[in-house]
This record gives sequence, structure tokens and C-alpha cells, in this order.
Amino acid sequence: MPSIRKLLVANRGEIALRIMRTCREMGIQTVAIYSEADRHALHVRYADEAVCVGPAPSSESYLKADTIIEVCRRLGVDAIHPGYGFLSENARFAQLVREAGLIFVGPSPESIEVMGSKLAAKAAVSTYNIPMVPGTPSAISDRAEAKVISAQIGYPILIKASAGGGGKGMRIVEREEDFDEQMDRAVSEAISAFGDGSVFIEKYVTSPRHIEIQVLGDQHGNIIHLFERECSVQRRHQKVVEEAPSAVLTPEIRAEMGRCAVDVARACGYYGAGTVEFIVDDQLNFYFLEMNTRLQVEHPVTEQITGVDLVKQMIYIAEGKELAIKQEDLEIKGHAVEVRVYAEDPTNNFLPDVGTLQTYVRPQGNGVRVDDGFEQDMEIPIYYDPMIAKLITYGNDRTEAIQKMIRAIDEYQITGVQTTLPFCRYVMGHSAFTSGNFDTHFVNRYFTPDVLKPAPDAAEAQLAAVLAAQLFANRKPAATNGTAVTEAKESRWKANRR
Ligand code: ADP
Ligand code: ADP
Ligand code: MG
Repeated sequence: MPSIRKLLVANRGEIALRIMRTCREMGIQTVAIYSEADRHALHVRYADEAVCVGPAPSSESYLKADTIIEVCRRLGVDAIHPGYGFLSENARFAQLVREAGLIFVGPSPESIEVMGSKLAAKAAVSTYNIPMVPGTPSAISDRAEAKVISAQIGYPILIKASAGGGGKGMRIVEREEDFDEQMDRAVSEAISAFGDGSVFIEKYVTSPRHIEIQVLGDQHGNIIHLFERECSVQRRHQKVVEEAPSAVLTPEIRAEMGRCAVDVARACGYYGAGTVEFIVDDQLNFYFLEMNTRLQVEHPVTEQITGVDLVKQMIYIAEGKELAIKQEDLEIKGHAVEVRVYAEDPTNNFLPDVGTLQTYVRPQGNGVRVDDGFEQDMEIPIYYDPMIAKLITYGNDRTEAIQKMIRAIDEYQITGVQTTLPFCRYVMGHSAFTSGNFDTHFVNRYFTPDVLKPAPDAAEAQLAAVLAAQLFANRKPAATNGTAVTEAKESRWKANRR
């Protein structure tokens, strides 16, 4: 059995650090790669060795498969962990790594290939008993036929790019009249974003929740699941707040979804860590959406409630070891919530707001975990995903995890860029979230920039009231005027004393 002694992380930022920390705990040497824009990045400093692989644009650095493999040869690296994004779901890269005699810490190129296409994935799992959203089973070639099917399914429908990812390549069609226009857009978006114009149709599930199951499989055919993560708070079909377990699943539905997720993994001979995503309707019917063949951004919430280090398991699996964890050993302990701290302006359509972190002070304390890749005075490069950090809290139950999150967000100090923190703070305090009664429309339904306007504090409010009273009094005869002013002074003094 090959044991990994030196591992290269083909990624950057928080996830590169997170992977290298586990490597260090396991006595594995680490190699970082970086672009010219990341010369001073924390992952570069943390690694035992670091190599610059090219200029800032990721197509010239973090995506340079051949260069990365060459670095491995030169430094005597024996394994590559791809993290998420970049080359993590690139079957060709996984194949090149294999051909170079290196270990890819992830699934086989074949599994990545099948699950990389939402349509191929659906076809692969079709012999198993996995519920699927009604829709077209293959790519649309005949529009007239697609319209007939859409009418049968019933509007609204969703046109999706088979090769889609990151919330891109999706178009909702509300009425048949809009079908052609949305179809044209979906196809051209799919071609420009993924180089593949194949699209298909799914019924648009109204009031949907996004609930996904974490799986782990070894190279000996053992597959287990590590329960669910609820990721329904999204903007642009992309997650911002995640938690485990979900506030709404019953033990029965959880077990059923877990079984389905394990079958999905089995259908493609899966090994490594993976995530099977489901959409859940308001009756708690669930449907298979897709499988992500990598470590997920929100994996920490699963680690918190199960006590399993997912990166460590990925490394053991890549070394060919058998899973030491049995399904019946696993149980959910407590509750974890994660918020993604993006350098985005929630008052301006969540547009990226890159710049320098003039103040950067992390929250700390019991039950608080911060996975980040920045320090004060560092600049957030414009070239990559604008995520600054993931803030995770863990408590005995959901209420405690949320209370800790509110405390942690209030203590997180970031200036220099706008962040999603105020938005996340709003979510944590919203009754729809605290009651668990929410879906993927949370942002559209409950959020407007106005809700983030600071409430005037008590003293200011009182002063404003007093000044208003004074203006009102000024319209009255002079005799009462003096009283009003005296009252105003007195109130102001009281207000200042607080
Ligand atoms: P997760 O399900 O792990 O939360 P996200 O959808 O947030 O995944 O994506 C994680 C990262 O991977 C992001 O940086 C996102 O931009 C990137 N990503 C995901 N899918 C794709 C894709 N098909 N092409 C390019 N980047 C992608
Ligand atoms: P991606 O590869 O971009 O992650 P997904 O198929 O996982 O694509 O969908 C991303 C998000 O889009 C889901 O989390 C959900 O919010 C929404 N979505 C996807 N399919 C449907 C559907 N059939 N009905 C309603 N919402 C959907
Ligand atoms: Mg998805």
C-alpha cells in the first residue's frame, strides 16, 4: 500500500491551508503552488515548500495541469489534493496525474467524467431506485418535442446546462411564450461558460430546499454517508449559509436520503469524498440533482457534527486503505452552522468588492472555527473567488449554534471591503431561519438592502424625537417655547449619560 509522504495542494486560500493542516497532523510534507498574485499568501508561507506556477490569471497558473505535474516530479511529490474549484472536477487532470504515477486524492477519472455531466449522472443512476425531478432524460435536440414535454411537466420549468456548475447555466421558464427566448440564452450561456451547449429540462420545484448528503467511499467498495447539510440560503443559486443537520429532516427521511446517496456513489464506482445533492419540496419529497466529486466548501459543518476529519479520510482512501468507519458507528452530535464571508456588497446585489483588509480580526472562543486565508493588511486579489473566510459555529443544538454564530459575527471585525457578514447576521436573526421554515427563495423573499441600514441607537432616537418636539414647539407661542428647550436639554443629558 503506497503511503503518502509529500503532498502538493493544487489550490489556494482557505482550502489549501485547511488541507495542509491535516497533512501536518499526519506527518505528511506539504508543497504549495501559487500564482504571482499570491506571492505573499498564507498558504505559501504555511507549506514546507512553495513553487510559483505562473501569472495571476488561473488559466495561466492554478489550471496549468502539466506545470503542476512537472513540479511534482521535480520535488519528489507523491500525491496531489485538488481542493474544490480549479482542477478538482477535471477528469483529464485526474487521468494525467494517474499517468504520471502520482496519487490523485479524489475519485477516479471515470467517476469524475460520469458525474461531471448532469445527464450522464442521471443515466448512470437510472438502474437504482433514486427519485428524480420530472424532466427530459437526455439533451434537447428537438425544440418542438421539448415544448410538448414541458407542457406535460407543467410550467414553471428549468432549463439546465448538463455541464453546469457553480450555479451557472440555469434558466427558469415561467410560461410557454418565453420558452424559445430562454432556450437561446441557456444554450449560449452553456457554450460560453462550459464549452458544451447540451441543455435539458427539469420541473422547477417551487419552494425548494437544497439538502445534500456527504459520502465517503474506499477503493474496496465500502461506501458510507455522513448525514446531510442544508444549503438553502443561496444567492444566484450559490450557497451562503449552510448547516448540519437540517432543521426539517426526520430520522426516516435522513436514512432514506442516505441510502440513495450511497447508491448514487455505487452507481459510478465512487471512492473518495463526494456530495450527492438533492432538491427537497415542501412535502419533504426529495429528488436527486447531481453529484459533486470533490471536497465541498461547506464540509466543515459535517466534520463538526460527526467528529470525522474528511481530508484525513480522503488521504487514507487515496492510499488504498479500507474505511475504518462503519455506518453504524456514526451519529449526529450537536449542530453546526457555517456562513461564507465573501468580499461582496450585500447592499449592491452581492457584487464583488475587492480591496485591502484594513482591519481583520477573527472571532474566537468555544465552538467557533474560522477557516480563512487572509490576515490584516492583505489584499483580496480580483482574479479569484472573493471568499475571505468560512465562519463555523458548533453548539449542542441548533439554537446554541445560532447564538454562537450571532456572537461570532458581531465580534468579527473587517474593514476595507464590504462583506456578506451583515447579511448573514440578518439571516441568523430572521424568524424564517430560526424557525427552520425557509427555502432557496429566502434572499428574494426577505432580503432588501434596507434591512441592513443601522437602526438608530436609543440615544440618537431620543435626540431626534426631542428635536422634532422642539420644531413643533417653535410653531407655538413663545411662552411654551422655553419649557420645550429645557426639556430637550434635560433629555439630551439623560441620553448622553447612558
Ligand atoms: P459547493 O457546493 O462546494 O459549495 P460551489 O458551487 O460554491 O460549491 O463552488 C465551489 C467553488 O468551485 C467555487 O469557487 C466555484 O466558483 C467553483 N466551481 C464550481 N463548479 C464549477 C464549474 N463547473 N466551473 C468552474 N468553477 C466551478
Ligand atoms: P450546480 O451544478 O450549479 O450546483 P445544481 O443542479 O446543483 O447546479 O443546482 C444549483 C441550485 O439551483 C440548487 O441548489 C437549487 O437552489 C437550484 N435548483 C436546481 N435545480 C432545481 C429545480 N429543479 N427546481 C428548483 N430549483 C433548482
Ligand atoms: Mg450543485
